[in-house]
Amino acid sequence: MINDTIKLTFLGGAETVTGSKILLETHQHTILIDCGMFQGLKSLRLKNWEAFSIDPGKIDAIILTHAHLDHCGYIPVLAKNGFKGEIHCTIPTKDLTELILKDSAKIQEEDAEAANKYHYSKHNPAKPLYTVEDVENVLRYFVSHEKNQWIVINDEIKICYRHAGHILGAAFIEMKCLNKKIVFSGDIGRKNPLILYPPDKPTEANYLVTESTYGDRLHAVVNTENELAEIITKTYKRGGIVMIPSFAIGRTQELLYLINILKEKQKIADVPIYLDSPMGIKATEIMLKYPDWHKLSDGQIHKIASQTNTIKDFKQTIELVKDKSPKIVIAGSGMITGGRILYYLEHLIDNEKNTVLLVGHQSEGTRGRLLYDGAHEIKFHGKYFPIKAQVCSMSSLSGHADQSELIDWLSKIEGKMTKVFINHGEAQSAGTLKTKITDQYGWDCEVAKMNHPYIFNL
Ligand SMILES: [Zn+2]
Repeated sequence: MINDTIKLTFLGGAETVTGSKILLETHQHTILIDCGMFQGLKSLRLKNWEAFSIDPGKIDAIILTHAHLDHCGYIPVLAKNGFKGEIHCTIPTKDLTELILKDSAKIQEEDAEAANKYHYSKHNPAKPLYTVEDVENVLRYFVSHEKNQWIVINDEIKICYRHAGHILGAAFIEMKCLNKKIVFSGDIGRKNPLILYPPDKPTEANYLVTESTYGDRLHAVVNTENELAEIITKTYKRGGIVMIPSFAIGRTQELLYLINILKEKQKIADVPIYLDSPMGIKATEIMLKYPDWHKLSDGQIHKIASQTNTIKDFKQTIELVKDKSPKIVIAGSGMITGGRILYYLEHLIDNEKNTVLLVGHQSEGTRGRLLYDGAHEIKFHGKYFPIKAQVCSMSSLSGHADQSELIDWLSKIEGKMTKVFINHGEAQSAGTLKTKITDQYGWDCEVAKMNHPYIFNL
């Protein structure tokens, strides 16, 4: 490559919401923005096992936007294959990434063990993509930073983390690279998040990479409290159980906060709440460490925690699964790709009294998406289960900005915008957002293609 040239290659998160990885190359340096694992469709998941497109040892640094697995979950694989650079992130993201990577490794180890024991994998033996030990080995590469401070990555690249309002610690990246300003959105939260502060807005960009998870949709304008109260009350009156598959970080704390408010306002009966998510419990503890990053007081967090029954081990899960009295159970994983929620579904999804409440984006190829799309059965643990429980979803609890909120997030940008890339969205969402941004701002927009090199001469 010649001097004064930047090359961007989307190695994931292009025309899909998963596996976010953007390779940025200059004449002298190679960095990766986010390093996500592919989840969802099998054709995508298989990419986690393919050889990486460049030698990981040649990547100088990884810059993370936030701790979700589709943005950080591939780091241990890269490190196993020779990556030895620094991994930059915000201070809460470091704690949460450690938590989420260890959980991912543990689930993979358990799944491989179960698959080998019960022979429900085609692979013999089934192996985890990485282990807890692999995760321990990458932690030394992490360097964490405050938001709103410029950080020198190398002699060509500086970055600044800005609040993104998506999950605790989530940030978008303002980058100065060879005198050009590039903004990478990561995932952008809603305009008025429940427990986080609203996203900051970028004010200058020559190049922009923006997510488009909900690029073709507007979240329903509803009263979230009333909507949730109605679902809980209807299920309670039927004598049923509300099962909420939930992302451990962010959504779980929002749900507990909301349910707490509903009880306080007596909008719902005093139905017991169970949190069966060791990661959700730890994520709540991490929130307490970073009061500047969210709106909840220590007192509020402690109060919510005191009213939540936490499931400490698998033995308690099995006992709770057998107890058919009305309750609310929040358990991982958010898209039903694995985790404790499966044990509740196994015993409760075939009963019309119960409710499965979906509260976040459900990617293509996940069991959550099948439920969302009205499937009559789902398969897990090597068996099919008929879906007789009520399936509801609440998009107002989404952690992602919708189309109008993304357009609004861009509204303060000044200066010459040379190019906008739309990533992190399924094809229709990305395409619709492209048209909307072009119409609104007149910028040159393109839907990012996977593995296609985009070269700019500055
Ligand atoms: Zn995210």
